[in-house]
Amino acid sequence: MLTMGVDIGSASSKVVILRDGAEILAGVAVPVGTGTTGPARALQQALEIAKVERDEISKVVVTGYGRMTYEGADEQVSEITCHAKGVHHLIPSARTIIDIGGQDAKVIKLDEQGYVSNFVMNEKCAAGTGRFLEVMARVLEVHVSELEVLGDKANNVVPISSTCTVFAESEVISQLAAGQKSSDVVAGIHQSVARRVAGLAGRVGITPTVVITGGVAQNAGVVKALEKELKIPITVAPRSQLTGALGAALIAFESLVKASNKTVG
Ligand code: ADP
Repeated sequence: MLTMGVDIGSASSKVVILRDGAEILAGVAVPVGTGTTGPARALQQALEIAKVERDEISKVVVTGYGRMTYEGADEQVSEITCHAKGVHHLIPSARTIIDIGGQDAKVIKLDEQGYVSNFVMNEKCAAGTGRFLEVMARVLEVHVSELEVLGDKANNVVPISSTCTVFAESEVISQLAAGQKSSDVVAGIHQSVARRVAGLAGRVGITPTVVITGGVAQNAGVVKALEKELKIPITVAPRSQLTGALGAALIAFESLVKASNKTVG
């Protein structure tokens, strides 16, 4: 049985196609999100990779910030529930999930069964999110995916004192104009994101195993800075950007199994 999870974020669109709730046939992330051609493109690419037709998929669950605008799904489920499901499937010992996406950051606490026991979210401000990193990457004239390598060359951390993204951007411009090395400035940018997310995590508390998901988890510089702030090791979820879509595909599978058990019973 095939199920599909679609995660429409602010910055990217993700699709996972799953066979029998276990085997990932395709996992695709397209770097544009809600209100763009991203969801349709991610869907098409995933079908091609999995070598299946759309009508062979038994159920589709959509999640993410843009889920209300998507018409091609059988059910909508919140990102919190989908991330929890995806992470618990991959790493059953996970008790805290840190998800850093394009325009928000979330800290989700899980119980032993993988159910959400508490969560906090920063959605009002770009600081501590992928957007902050994208703004800073533009100032540095690099792609956001290049920040990790640049930050890895740092000898010092140039701290960014402003929490507001607009003021922090001016601060980065001034530091570069004053002759600070771009790698040291990047280390400061990573530290700024880590401090902001650590502040959020402090509101619900951190219980190991701590797992990080979302697009920003691909930047090991941010992960290292966050480990330093929280003083705890962090496990990066495999294919971290796809965890929500995976959770959605798993929820689709489980609901079909439940429905067929009811019919048989
Ligand atoms: P959303 O679900 O909100 O659309 P994602 O979880 O897909 O967000 O994360 C998007 C963010 O991930 C981007 O804003 C960017 O900062 C970061 N990102 C995307 N691709 C990469 C990459 N290859 N390396 C590092 N960071 C990345």
